[in-house]
Amino acid sequence: MKRRMAVFCSLLALLIAGLSVAQQKSPVTAIKAGRLIDPETGTVATNQVILIEGEKITGVGPNLAIPSGATVIDLSQLTVLPGLVDAHTHMAITYKEQPENNYYYLTYITDSTALRAIQAASNGMQLLNSGFTVVRDVGNNALYADAALRQAIEQGWLPGPTVIPSGPMIGSTGGQFWPTPEMYKYHNIMFPEYIDANSPDEIVRAVRENMLFGARTIKLCIDCKPWGYSVEDIKLAIREAAKGGCKVEGHVQTADGAQLAIDAGVYIIAHNNALTPDHHRQMAEKGIFLAGTDTPFTPYRGSEAAFKRTVANLRDAWEKKVLLTFSTDMDYWNERMKDPKTGEWLTRGELTINFLETWKAAGIPQADILRAMTINGYKAADIISQRGPIKPGFFADIIAVPGNPLSDIDALRNVRFVMKNGMVFKKDGVMVPEKFFHPGPVKTPNGRWSR
Ligand SMILES: [Zn+2]
Repeated sequence: MKRRMAVFCSLLALLIAGLSVAQQKSPVTAIKAGRLIDPETGTVATNQVILIEGEKITGVGPNLAIPSGATVIDLSQLTVLPGLVDAHTHMAITYKEQPENNYYYLTYITDSTALRAIQAASNGMQLLNSGFTVVRDVGNNALYADAALRQAIEQGWLPGPTVIPSGPMIGSTGGQFWPTPEMYKYHNIMFPEYIDANSPDEIVRAVRENMLFGARTIKLCIDCKPWGYSVEDIKLAIREAAKGGCKVEGHVQTADGAQLAIDAGVYIIAHNNALTPDHHRQMAEKGIFLAGTDTPFTPYRGSEAAFKRTVANLRDAWEKKVLLTFSTDMDYWNERMKDPKTGEWLTRGELTINFLETWKAAGIPQADILRAMTINGYKAADIISQRGPIKPGFFADIIAVPGNPLSDIDALRNVRFVMKNGMVFKKDGVMVPEKFFHPGPVKTPNGRWSR
């Protein structure tokens, strides 16, 4: 009996050892890249091999040996580069001409948080399909639908970009709404679209609550109301956010507000409309990122006059050497969002990449546009130490396009291949997301109870 028990125990030990070895070994993938862009330097290397083990890049070079048993992905006819970043968007709100006449105060009444969370999940996949592997999702996302989407993607329920959520925007009385006394006082209509935070205590509480509920950045309404925030208020928010590892984005819509945000030293300023050349100069000096949200003039959005201003402002910011990011503020939809040639609906990814129109009109060099869409985006999202560069140790978030975006930025409209966290999402121009779907949280990167 004792001997049988001993044999059983040693068999069990062998089995456990075997299992742990099997668990340690991640599948190896080798990408053969015809051209590999380094957006930091704006240079191209030809015929490179990228080795990926599990979720991360383990090697990059021209003559790397491909281990036997590795899955080989042949992108030798394509240009390979890091995934793209939309540094300011809203995935969990879709205001429409019908029924709400583009008034998102009403969207908040008609669309539940649950519905908006599902919209966000769909938008995430559409963005990934167009090569956007990171989005900063900054407010107007119902009751933390943005944070829930980040968690769901991280846990392995479904594919999507790396989401940097802000939770509700923090503002002074009224946020961006002008509610009736009934709705404000008796129905608490501000929350969850905005958190009213008026005193230092309330600002600290609001920042802490957002971080507790899963925010990875803090969005402040600097001047949404004439009684907005002071430099001291903003500095307090920055200090408190830093305790939870978050940077602060200031929403700015007036020149005075811009000056307050700059003086306080926010990490990112959202919206370029109200900024002057002098603000741009100061931002460049202080190293403040700009998420200009540079809307193109299209059949579905904008006016020629507004577009001219947007282009001139973007051009000035570039001339002053502000740290530019590619950002959209997409949060709307209408029935004119169709491809004029095919009559097909444009996807959220296609609508996003179409913001290139503004950058081209501003005459910004292709290498600088690409840097804004990648490296600067990763820095603004504060994840540059983990994602972005195609170098060993970084997450494998990799896309590929025909042509060369450094000489024709529109090449980015034709993303043929997308890899996120080492898993293939799109190949040969077709979405193949099967590996991303699971009936449970297969990964818990922050521990079971942590958001
Ligand atoms: Zn916005």
